[in-house]
Amino acid sequence: MIRFDVLTLFPDMFRAVLGDSIINRACEKGLVQLNFIDIRDFTKNKHRKVDDYPYSGGGGMLMAAQPIYDAYQSIVKDLDYKPLTIYMSPQGSVFDQKAAVELSGYNHIVLLCGHYEGVDQRVLDLIVDREISLGDFVLTGGEIPAMAVIDAVSRMIPGVLASESSYENESHYSGLLEYPQYTRPEEFMGIKIPEVLISGHHAKIEEWKRQEAVRNTYMKRPDLLEKAELTEKDIAFLNKLKTADR
Ligand code: SAH
Repeated sequence: MIRFDVLTLFPDMFRAVLGDSIINRACEKGLVQLNFIDIRDFTKNKHRKVDDYPYSGGGGMLMAAQPIYDAYQSIVKDLDYKPLTIYMSPQGSVFDQKAAVELSGYNHIVLLCGHYEGVDQRVLDLIVDREISLGDFVLTGGEIPAMAVIDAVSRMIPGVLASESSYENESHYSGLLEYPQYTRPEEFMGIKIPEVLISGHHAKIEEWKRQEAVRNTYMKRPDLLEKAELTEKDIAFLNKLKTADR
């Protein structure tokens, strides 16, 4: 079981996106617990304001420290441990499958979503253990990145996907991209599926999958091959591809 508490100004965004399909089923099965905490509920400002002008000027608004700090306290006040607290931020380390696997080992994660120009640094210094970015671009809020993290981490929790082999072959898990996949019918628009897949020859199918994964990675993301764990057979196949390219 993994528990996520999300600190956000837009809890409804999460309910709309995660309320469906696999993640929702994981919640119903008790494998994942999702709590959305509306930061606005904790403001002490009589107009329910949660933002203010930055001292540095330059326009835009910053989320103030107090409502976020109090919202965070509402989560941790009864705990005898500190949950891993992550600020979604374009300044963080870029999220990847390795990070998803690592985070799936935690029991309790708090995700803080910023908005506007960002968040008063003092509350980040007080509560945040790590910053995670969705990529080298800037979004209007941390909600989409937080959803991406919840989704990618949850599907690594045993029982969330139909079977573990569902992800072990997948792109990025083993450092390679996945092989191409086909479903029925055997022929579509005159294009047949690769013969080997209906051969019934299990070992040959496995070999085909591995080679196509190597080929896919070589064609689309050759940079990944440097870090992937390749067998001697993989390397021989890769060399064949490279020779054919010359
Ligand atoms: N002024 C900030 C960016 C603010 S963007 C800066 O230059 O660093 C507003 C909010 O969106 C941020 O507080 C953060 O929570 C979220 N955000 C924007 N881009 C993001 C990204 N690539 N990854 C994760 N969160 C992001």
